[in-house]
Amino acid sequence: MNDSTPSISKVHADAEETTAGNYFISNYPPFHFWDAGTATHLEELLQTPSPSETPLGVYFHIPFCRKRCHFCYFRVYTDRNASEIQRYLDAGIRELERYAQAPFVNGRKPSFVYFGGGTPSYLSVPQLRSLTDRMKALLSWDSVEEVTFEAEPGTLNEAKVMAIRELGVTRLSLGVENFDSHILEINGRAHRADEIQRAFRWARSAGFPQINVDLIAGMVEETDENWRENVRKLIELGPDCVTIYQMEVPYNTGIFKRMKEEGQLVAPVATWNTKREWVGYAFSELEKVGYTVTSGYTAVRDPARTRFVYRDALWQGADLIGAGVASFSHIGGVHFQNAAEIGQYIDRVESAQLPVSRAMATTPEERLIRELILQMKLGRVNAAYFSAKFSEDIRRRFEPQWAELEARCLAQWQGEIFVLTREALLRVDTLLPAFFLPQHQNARYT
Ligand code: SF4
Repeated sequence: MNDSTPSISKVHADAEETTAGNYFISNYPPFHFWDAGTATHLEELLQTPSPSETPLGVYFHIPFCRKRCHFCYFRVYTDRNASEIQRYLDAGIRELERYAQAPFVNGRKPSFVYFGGGTPSYLSVPQLRSLTDRMKALLSWDSVEEVTFEAEPGTLNEAKVMAIRELGVTRLSLGVENFDSHILEINGRAHRADEIQRAFRWARSAGFPQINVDLIAGMVEETDENWRENVRKLIELGPDCVTIYQMEVPYNTGIFKRMKEEGQLVAPVATWNTKREWVGYAFSELEKVGYTVTSGYTAVRDPARTRFVYRDALWQGADLIGAGVASFSHIGGVHFQNAAEIGQYIDRVESAQLPVSRAMATTPEERLIRELILQMKLGRVNAAYFSAKFSEDIRRRFEPQWAELEARCLAQWQGEIFVLTREALLRVDTLLPAFFLPQHQNARYT
């Protein structure tokens, strides 16, 4: 290993206590390197002809919630009335219209659509019908393979669940987080255990091709016993797909605010080692009843049926238009994020400006690294994919990094495929910064 090659173990301290900061890596290069100046180049890019091959997706952000969870690090609004919400939705449509008319996007048909938040299910059925009708009129859903919709169980009723299915949603993602009402309550979550069971029943009878359940390992007051009970209830429910996150405590969460007030450096949640053990336990219990682990965060009941069009397209460099406050986009190799405050976002759109606050035009090398680290989250990286797409031999390019992972018994090459062990998969986000370019090492993720 040469001097400029970062050591995996040094790059990300494997501190076992959960302290404040971001753990989960969702993009590359780090946001810290995005800037307001680059945003102006976006207008030029939008005027260029559309690429014929690159898949396109649309993300619509709904930033409204019933209450703010103590672990939430998103900008959410819990006090908006119907006319304020309508004004926001109108702005989102106007933003999408701007993209749909631009030469770079015009005529392209999205292959996936994603409603995220916040809480998309906070919207009423008439609001949802109008929103999706207007979206379909701008960018046809004729070629859409997957429509994902995030839902908070307590915001659903039977009629709303049926209506969401009728809009064309194929994948309903229920933000369960924990099956215990006390744990939900002390973590500031709005829903309770009985609402989970009801919502799941309605979703099954509505006939969604896929129902996903989100859980968080390591909520405040989580115990071994409660986690085992969570896994038991999860298996009893039998969703098509399970997503489990390990609790992180970024600086803009209620948990961190309280830590600061109390002068605490360590968050009142389980250690990273315990959280990994909990996710590992859940994965092995799910495997015993036939699920397959498909990434560091997901297990699916039937891999032949359960596809992740959104995730796989993004992790293979698809274009994504993200509409709404603070939304992230990636088109033509340029990352950008919208204004993070709702008033500023709406004002910018209403005055016919792109509401972008920061952006970064990536180099081919940065795009390769981005895809490489995102695909590592699947637990396997195919060298042939990268030589075909980037004309780069990743075996040679990242030789010291692969060697270190092999030396630590965390992974090995199997022919053209680099395969991570389960242990590596459970800590995959800590292994990724070693693949970053030197100038991006140690960047703070915000
Ligand atoms: S429901 Fe989700 S977006 Fe809303 S406050 Fe809770 S964690 Fe944040």
